Amino acid sequence: MMLPSCQAALTPWLLLRSPHRALSSGGAMVYDVVISGGGMVGTAMACALGSDPHLHHKKILLLEAGQRKETAHLPARFSNRVSSITPGSATLLASFGAWEHVSAMRMKPFKRMQVWDACSDALITFDKDGMEDMGHVVENDVVIAALTQQLRAMSDRVEVLYRSRAQGYTWPTPYHNGEARPWVRIDLAGGQTLHTRLLIGADGQNSMVRSAAGMHSIQWSYNHVAVVATLHLSEATDNNVAWQRFLPTGPIALLPLSDTCSSLVWSTSPEQASRLLDMDEETFVDAVNSAFWSNESQSDFVASAGSILHTAISYLMPSGTSSRQLPPSVSQVDSDSRAAFPLGMAHATEYVRHRVALIGDAAHRVHPLAGQGVNLGFGDVGSLARHLSKAAFNGQDLGSSKHLLQYETERQRHNLPMMATVDLLKRLYNTKQLPVVLLRTLGLQATNAILPVKVSFVTASASRQHRDESLICLYISRNKSWHSPASSSGRLVAAAGASWETRGSSGRRVIATDQYKLFNSKGYFLF
Ligand SMILES: Cc1cc2nc3c(=O)[nH]c(=O)nc-3n(C[C@H](O)[C@H](O)[C@H](O)COP(=O)(O)OP(=O)(O)OC[C@H]3O[C@@H](n4cnc5c(N)ncnc54)[C@H](O)[C@@H]3O)c2cc1C
Repeated sequence: MMLPSCQAALTPWLLLRSPHRALSSGGAMVYDVVISGGGMVGTAMACALGSDPHLHHKKILLLEAGQRKETAHLPARFSNRVSSITPGSATLLASFGAWEHVSAMRMKPFKRMQVWDACSDALITFDKDGMEDMGHVVENDVVIAALTQQLRAMSDRVEVLYRSRAQGYTWPTPYHNGEARPWVRIDLAGGQTLHTRLLIGADGQNSMVRSAAGMHSIQWSYNHVAVVATLHLSEATDNNVAWQRFLPTGPIALLPLSDTCSSLVWSTSPEQASRLLDMDEETFVDAVNSAFWSNESQSDFVASAGSILHTAISYLMPSGTSSRQLPPSVSQVDSDSRAAFPLGMAHATEYVRHRVALIGDAAHRVHPLAGQGVNLGFGDVGSLARHLSKAAFNGQDLGSSKHLLQYETERQRHNLPMMATVDLLKRLYNTKQLPVVLLRTLGLQATNAILPVKVSFVTASASRQHRDESLICLYISRNKSWHSPASSSGRLVAAAGASWETRGSSGRRVIATDQYKLFNSKGYFLF
């Protein structure tokens, strides 16, 4: 009686030892890794795994319900869906060659962020000595097109099925069960069946992988809607500042797209959002300008308290207060570019189970006020790819909870504080109550003046991830030049206290990190 179950357990394992081919198990295809969902995060995951030399013998599949999004000719008009991409995320995309395509297509770097309160005009600014980029604003379609282009170059390592919706998952059963199923089974809408050792759920905020696996998600709606639109500025400028003003009804942000265009993300009540969508274009432009310029929400008392603190700080720390810049005025909105998206917050209490891992919005969803959603997702990609690479190098089962749990711990430690901060900011700024306004005015002024606190905000959101992800696939050769599989290269400037791991004849893999200063061919400092 034991024989059939042992056979069921062993057969797919033996089949999977054969490299570069998805094999049939009782008529169903068997993969090492299936990524369900080819949005920005799922496609980046496919690229990260496809470019990892330790995973070259693994069979990887990306499933996407929608069509292939490759842009042979970029439309002249900007898309209304854009993301601000942190330097850490750009480094991740560069590590497998996709950032080069983004740069060649379309993106706008910004060097400064100015965030201010409509109730008091207290402000905080972020920049990196005015020289380095704080981030890049990129259309979501451009990110996906760049990733898709890179994936095409890996077609011998990653299979992609577009217009393929997973409609059911069956989870592995324990080996002592007579009906044991060792792998995850995926039923596609077209009637096809697949098996995989590891299923990665990258299927967005309504993740079917998460719900089918019974993974609990804590979530709430903000009863807020983000109105997005593509705006034209009254006059051409360098347009290298990202602007955000906290109105009592919610934050409004203007993200640079070019010298003359910016993207609007205006979070507000559903009622105001539908008015904004329905009004004619001229009235809409007036509403946007007024939201950035009007002082009608300010109280004299808070303004005086803020100004006293500002004067005190200027006296005590002359370099502590940064100059206020005026946002550009808007002259026009692209027709049909206005759209609305409901906003909420969600966090899966578990990111992993045996043979399942969640990444991106499937695991967590945040308010866009800090521009962190897809950046957290790219952080998940870097972390999970690193743990899977290590498991493959050590000959371990990719679907084992052992390293999946390490991924979960690492990411929850990073994601939860970030999500809590975003949620707190959303609540703190969603009120006109005088004591709260006063408190946040004084807090913002003081934070703006204390450089180390400000720097820690920036590094928490960018540099830590930046450093982690630059590790993924970096090799240093004997002549001190460095290479990544994405074919970017640079020069090793400093190295101390190194520990090395030999990897092939061409180079050596970096294990220790903080001791290095690496510059790529454009002179960017990497970590
Ligand atoms: C207005 C707004 C502004 C934002 N701005 C920023 C920003 O500036 N910076 C930032 O970092 N983030 C931002 N975000 C958040 C960011 O857009 C999301 O975090 C990101 O798009 C999530 O990507 P994802 O790949 O995880 O999920 P999704 O984009 O939802 O992709 C999921 C994919 O899975 C596919 N799929 C779903 N179900 C199945 C199935 N059963 N079978 C096969 N395929 C399936 C879907 O077709 C889809 O392609 C913003 C969000 C909003 C709403």
